[in-house]
Amino acid sequence: MSDGNRMKKEKNSSVIISRQEHGISRKLMSPNALRTLYRLRDNGFVGYLVGGCVRDLLLGREPKDFDVVTNATPGEVKRMFRNCRLVGRRFRLAHIHFLDEIIEVSTFRSLAANEPEPEPQEAHEAEHRQRHPRMLKDDDGMILRDNVYGTPEEDALRRDFTVNSLSYNIADFSITDYTGGLADLGAGIIRTIGDPDVRFQEDPVRMLRAVRFAAQLAFTIEENTRQALVAAADTIVRAAPPRLFDEMLKLLLSGEGAKCYDLLRQTGLFAALLPNFSSWLGAESEGFPHTRFGEMLSYVDSRIQQGYKVSLPLLLALLFGDYINEKAERFRRLGAPWQQSVDAAVAEFMGETCPIVMIANRVGLALRDIISQQMRLKKIPGRKPESFIVRHDFNDIIEYGRITRGDKKDVVNQLDWWAAQAKQLVIVPLPCERTKETKAPQRKRKRRRRRNLETKSRSEGL
Ligand code: ATP
Ligand code: MG
Repeated sequence: MSDGNRMKKEKNSSVIISRQEHGISRKLMSPNALRTLYRLRDNGFVGYLVGGCVRDLLLGREPKDFDVVTNATPGEVKRMFRNCRLVGRRFRLAHIHFLDEIIEVSTFRSLAANEPEPEPQEAHEAEHRQRHPRMLKDDDGMILRDNVYGTPEEDALRRDFTVNSLSYNIADFSITDYTGGLADLGAGIIRTIGDPDVRFQEDPVRMLRAVRFAAQLAFTIEENTRQALVAAADTIVRAAPPRLFDEMLKLLLSGEGAKCYDLLRQTGLFAALLPNFSSWLGAESEGFPHTRFGEMLSYVDSRIQQGYKVSLPLLLALLFGDYINEKAERFRRLGAPWQQSVDAAVAEFMGETCPIVMIANRVGLALRDIISQQMRLKKIPGRKPESFIVRHDFNDIIEYGRITRGDKKDVVNQLDWWAAQAKQLVIVPLPCERTKETKAPQRKRKRRRRRNLETKSRSEGL
């Protein structure tokens, strides 16, 4: 792709790679994304695949999702697809719903605040545009609202990194590059589009995205981008706490969590995101360094790379369990019973974490249960072992015990005992979970009950 002869320069500084000159085959694309693109094309609109899917297809990786951009307005897209819902208050996007997939279609967006808006086609679109004015930045330059329709080039330039700005045109199956993304893709470089200081100021979450892509793709963060990132690391706290939690999860569950962690620490992002936890990690405990966090990340990475899912509460318990247990121990030394000590420790952890990285309350409660129920594992058989086994988080409780304390013989014996009990316990499926084969006898029983009821009613003279 670096071969200049294979690229055709256009007047607007884009590079176009024709179908014969790139390795992307339509066979690797989601059929639903292709259906969406063909429908747009057949209705006289342009349609491109954009963003991460083009990057991943060029790298020979399986894309996570397929995003489409078009010159059709959201209203026009809605009229073209019966299975379409318009979503988003900040940006108006069309979601095309298929059986097992949603394809996101967005209208080319621009960052040019002074550019006149296109005339609205219809009254309701005009109304919508009035409700969503063009780009708005806060006093620090962070984008608060950005809903201006633009050209394909503007749409590429507003994206975060050069490797994420490539587009695949369904009209002739070519790839367009407005930012030098193809060269960066070939060289394995994550580089912001435009001035990195400005781009990280506009949206601090881009710093976390830079770290994730560098770790996931085994790319290097380009030097200017890296310096700007390190300089702006502290400003990550300006992003909305729920969004920071979502983005952090993407890093931790990327299958490259350990690499992400290294980069987060090197850049100062980790200390900014989790200040208390970060200083605890840096300090020794009873003469030993805290190494569990890194070990747990590597464990989670290996599970994810093997194709397993790790639940959110289990993930948090594995990563922060030692920290929370140490807090709980402190409460216990003050005289609180174990259960209350864990409750207080989790409350303290949530209290210090959530103002920056918002962990949903229900996730916090489930994390607390995994830690506090470790005590129950020691009571064999204890009261009503079967009601413990049918808990929805039983497997997480066992897995947490096995991973964090599985080096102790007595713990292994306890866990094996519980696993054996769980195997023996036959759980009767709920009627809605029954398979086709079990449906017939169910109908039979119903009829019998109705007859009985009739007999009973007659005998009681009802
Ligand atoms: P993946 O889906 O594999 O995590 P992706 O690059 O597709 O990676 P998405 O979150 O799906 O990431 O976003 C799709 C595209 O939207 C990106 O490739 C990028 O071009 C653009 N984008 C996403 N987030 C931002 C952002 N914060 N700032 C600018 N552009 C963004
Ligand atoms: Mg994506």
